[in-house]
Amino acid sequence: MLVDTSRLNQIREIDRDSGRVTVDAGIKLADLGPKLAAAGLALENQGDIDRQSVAGAISTATHGTGAKFPNLAAQITGLSLITADGQVRQLSADTDNEAFLAARVSFGSLGVISAATIQCVPLYTLHRVDYKDDLDSTLSRLDQHVDSSDHFEFFVFPYTRTALCRKTRRSSEEPDPTPMWRRRLEEEGVENLAMSALARTGKRIPALTPRLNRLITGLVSGAETEDRAYKVYATMRRVRFNEMEYALPRAAVAEAVDEVLELVESHKLPILFPLEVRFAAGDDAFLSTAHGRETGYIAVHQYRGMEFETFFRGVEAIMDSHGGRPHWGKRHYQNAATLAPKYPDWERFAKVRSRLDPDRVFTNEYARRVLG
Ligand SMILES: Cc1cc2nc3c(=O)[nH]c(=O)nc-3n(C[C@H](O)[C@H](O)[C@H](O)COP(=O)(O)OP(=O)(O)OC[C@H]3O[C@@H](n4cnc5c(N)ncnc54)[C@H](O)[C@@H]3O)c2cc1C
Repeated sequence: MLVDTSRLNQIREIDRDSGRVTVDAGIKLADLGPKLAAAGLALENQGDIDRQSVAGAISTATHGTGAKFPNLAAQITGLSLITADGQVRQLSADTDNEAFLAARVSFGSLGVISAATIQCVPLYTLHRVDYKDDLDSTLSRLDQHVDSSDHFEFFVFPYTRTALCRKTRRSSEEPDPTPMWRRRLEEEGVENLAMSALARTGKRIPALTPRLNRLITGLVSGAETEDRAYKVYATMRRVRFNEMEYALPRAAVAEAVDEVLELVESHKLPILFPLEVRFAAGDDAFLSTAHGRETGYIAVHQYRGMEFETFFRGVEAIMDSHGGRPHWGKRHYQNAATLAPKYPDWERFAKVRSRLDPDRVFTNEYARRVLG
């Protein structure tokens, strides 16, 4: 049985003094942004897209980038959870902290989240700069890049040594918005049209992958974008792909990036998508991928319809060697036995699960595999 929460899509209450906003759990981030802005508020941080529901985003520990900022689940101060016995439980640090720490990242396995209270921040502006840098230079000064910017991330195509960097600064200034036509041109031109054409060519002739990756890296030019935050975070993703993403201790990121690139190049794998590397603060949700540590994320992708398992399993072995934890909403091959040692509070989560859902009403194939 699949529960569709898309019509649970309203804001319930805005407390302007505290910045806390209670929303129906099915509201999409894309719909929430303008409504919060009208109240002078914003989400503290966001990921690459804004098509997710609030519940879907928090349930999988969806994150953006920025070493000072934790993921979306950590911005939640209260949840309404409909549990297997039919009760609607109000969870927060003050009511049932153990269940709250479990439910914040629980991918549907504890019940249906019907509402969430989000700690928002005053509306702010983002100034984003995209530029290219030598990969070795980026990796050797990674801490400096990450700590000197509110939101730093980079992409790198296999078979190139160029980092496509993105640095974003926050401010309370009024924005001088970058015209939407220019942003669409950049995003549609390189990120979608060129990527799509090159990926289709590479799918037909995989041996061309190194040349195609160098070509697209050459096509990417510098860009600057400024606007209210909720309009800057999200980009359009029209090219379909399979993805795996791992959360690592931040200090392991540079070495792991090199190892993944080496894996692709030594096995001549036709990987037509870049690695994406991001950062986030640690938090305390039991199953948050950033639980208890400053985190770096490495995402790998493969164009739809192309074989990805060889690559993803190789990447997973590298990530395992660095203590990595897989993103709950993306592909991975872990199970309960391999995941438990990665999470110090695994047993506390299991106890909450047994208390709230003793008969395993909220179980599907994925939950069985990853939670046991
Ligand atoms: C193009 C693309 C870009 C992405 N970018 C990012 C990114 O930048 N950062 C990142 O971290 N992730 C990213 N993701 C992953 C994405 O954020 C997650 O997959 C997210 O969970 C999707 O949200 P959804 O609302 O579609 O949830 P669904 O896919 O519907 O559900 C995801 C999980 O949440 C659970 N869930 C959903 N609603 C509820 C509810 N009401 N109560 C209880 N459980 C619920 C479901 O059971 C399921 O386990 C991206 C995904 C795509 C396709």
